[in-house]
Amino acid sequence: MRDLVARVMDSRLADLLARWRQGGMDEDDPAARFAGHADHLLVIEAEDGANRYAHYGKAFADCFGNDLTGQVIHLLPPDILPADRRFMLEFEYGFVRRSGRPLWRSYTALFGRDLPQTWQRLVLPAGKGRLVVGAYPVADYAPDDDGAALLRLVIDRVPVVLGDDGGVEDMALSLGAFCDTSRHAAELEELASRDSLTGVANRRHFEHLAGLELDHARRMGRSFALLALDIDHFKRINDTWGHAAGDEALKAFTNACRVGLREYDILGRVGGEEFAVALPNTGLDGARVIAERLRAAVAELLVHPAKGQFFDLTVSIGVAQLRETDTNVASLLQRADQALYRAKHGGRNRVVTQE
Ligand code: GH3
Ligand code: MG
Ligand code: MG
Repeated sequence: MRDLVARVMDSRLADLLARWRQGGMDEDDPAARFAGHADHLLVIEAEDGANRYAHYGKAFADCFGNDLTGQVIHLLPPDILPADRRFMLEFEYGFVRRSGRPLWRSYTALFGRDLPQTWQRLVLPAGKGRLVVGAYPVADYAPDDDGAALLRLVIDRVPVVLGDDGGVEDMALSLGAFCDTSRHAAELEELASRDSLTGVANRRHFEHLAGLELDHARRMGRSFALLALDIDHFKRINDTWGHAAGDEALKAFTNACRVGLREYDILGRVGGEEFAVALPNTGLDGARVIAERLRAAVAELLVHPAKGQFFDLTVSIGVAQLRETDTNVASLLQRADQALYRAKHGGRNRVVTQE
């Protein structure tokens, strides 16, 4: 709970909001560079059951050749949005409206072009049936760029409402709602869909996101893989070093995993010391390489529970690849778990692939 509120109240965001309200930001200011990211936002309003673009960012107009402001999604030209993608979008927007929760995913598609393009998108609820979507083509997405990092910071946490001119109309109001500490901790956590200790997706959110990627992979005939991870002898760590040290180990573990994963891979905490990773566009060989990289990174970790003390940890990993018979994440996760079971019995600290 404390962790979550601290993340939401990130001082950079508070600072950005204050300066945004004052206006007059100079060019060297990261907040000023953030303004350009309005080009990467869409605002979608529900009208008579249809989703209509109320604001269509310039980045999309430049990429797809049309300014679609005012257009209804199911009326869009097929080169901009093939029929299967429309269905997914309608589904996503419905999900975000119903759940009131943000949704983050990546798309790879032709979008009427010769070469496939991948976009990272985040859909946010923004009140009155309105949605705000932030999206970047992956090639343009520079995680180190201050402006992009700020955009992520904001859209990860706060529903942004855009005004008619495309400027940000209100963020502080939603920020207030997020920071209302009188809310029940579980409700806040649910809102964020994040595990409060490690910050990674909780089980439900992981299954949802992985499910969307799986559907996408099936429809597009693409590869998709899943890893099941379980920290070795974790009970022994708790017994020897205490529960707080165990918590530190879980945080160090997820940080090491994040570093070893790609921007669009999905990491979730599916149990106490059990994690899963969904790997879009990845076959068995690729998944094995990533799993081995995670295993090695975890084996290198040193956790410092107190001054002058340290311990290490290892992880066992099961790898499974999407098969034609897999219609949901559960069956894939089950095969990854079976491989994980064999990794444990084979001596732990190892990667085992599905049979
Ligand atoms: P194995 O190598 O077979 O996986 O052994 P293990 O000890 O890791 O497995 P086991 O399932 O017996 O124990 C898991 C332990 O993880 C027991 C539980 O108390 C601990 N645990 C679960 N969630 C948390 C948590 O949030 N924090 C801490 N510190 N410990 C946790
Ligand atoms: Mg376990
Ligand atoms: Mg374990």
